Amino acid sequence: MKQVVRGRFAPSPTGYMHMGNLWIAMLSYVSVRQQGGQWILRIEDIDRQRSQSSYTAGLLQDLDWLGFQWDEGPYQQSRRQSLYESVLQQLEAHNLVYPCYCSRARLHNVSSAPHLGEKRHPYDGHCRELSLAERDQLAKNKKPSYRLKVEDTRVQFLDAWQGLQTKNLKAGYDDFVIRRADGMWAYNLAVVIDDLVMGVTEVVRGCDLLDVTAQQIYLRNQLRAVCHQESASMVIHYKQAPVLLGQDGHRLSKRQHSVTIKDLRESGYTPAMVWSHFVEQVGLGKVLSERRRVHSLSDLLTLDLNSSLFKQEIIYM
Ligand SMILES: [Zn+2]
Repeated sequence: MKQVVRGRFAPSPTGYMHMGNLWIAMLSYVSVRQQGGQWILRIEDIDRQRSQSSYTAGLLQDLDWLGFQWDEGPYQQSRRQSLYESVLQQLEAHNLVYPCYCSRARLHNVSSAPHLGEKRHPYDGHCRELSLAERDQLAKNKKPSYRLKVEDTRVQFLDAWQGLQTKNLKAGYDDFVIRRADGMWAYNLAVVIDDLVMGVTEVVRGCDLLDVTAQQIYLRNQLRAVCHQESASMVIHYKQAPVLLGQDGHRLSKRQHSVTIKDLRESGYTPAMVWSHFVEQVGLGKVLSERRRVHSLSDLLTLDLNSSLFKQEIIYM
């Protein structure tokens, strides 16, 4: 039996919907619809400081207004914390995670100076081998974060747009945090659990996440051993899209005060005007198999997703 394609759009409600969100929403939607699959909407609102329910409401309103129809959801990660908690317990029971009591100052010192634009701060595995007595002692003064035990591994995956990716994970150094000391779940953990439990088979997102994909694949493989999910054997197909940048080289996020869908709607744009403006800005006209003006999301369903346009890392708007 042929596997049904299940894709998802998973925005964080930290601002109103902008062109960067629209880009990923559209690509994930078109890809799934072209394959006769299902599109899941998931709100990634575990960051309690930055997420706002008004932004969630805004995202849903904008998606609906622009013609997106989701088959499942919206799921909200903030309501799924007991699931994450139970997975953490299972990982702990299998000795796959450990508490880390390192101070921020210590972590800062062990991190080598990152290269320009690089966010990687390798850890040195300091808390991996603490004895139970040492842990008990440290626990009196500090709540720990939890790190996944990563073993020396080469992770390789084929990204449909960015090509073959290989990353070597190093034991101790790539032991990434899955729950922070303040109790907040790490992005990597929530994403991997949700994709697994929701039976996601295709991930379309920005290629700025290529770097964490290897960690996510590693974690997913670990979870297979501890969760008895039917979907655990599924392989995820990745399509990581070029990141849209403004002409000034800045990302089209809320922080750069870029124009939001809400702004456009309130200034009198119709959905048809938003789509035709968007297609022109990104230069999508040349990859539509039928050359015509785009007035709706359904006009984009003929987009040629094999075009070299999607193999770039950046598109300037
Ligand atoms: Zn530590």
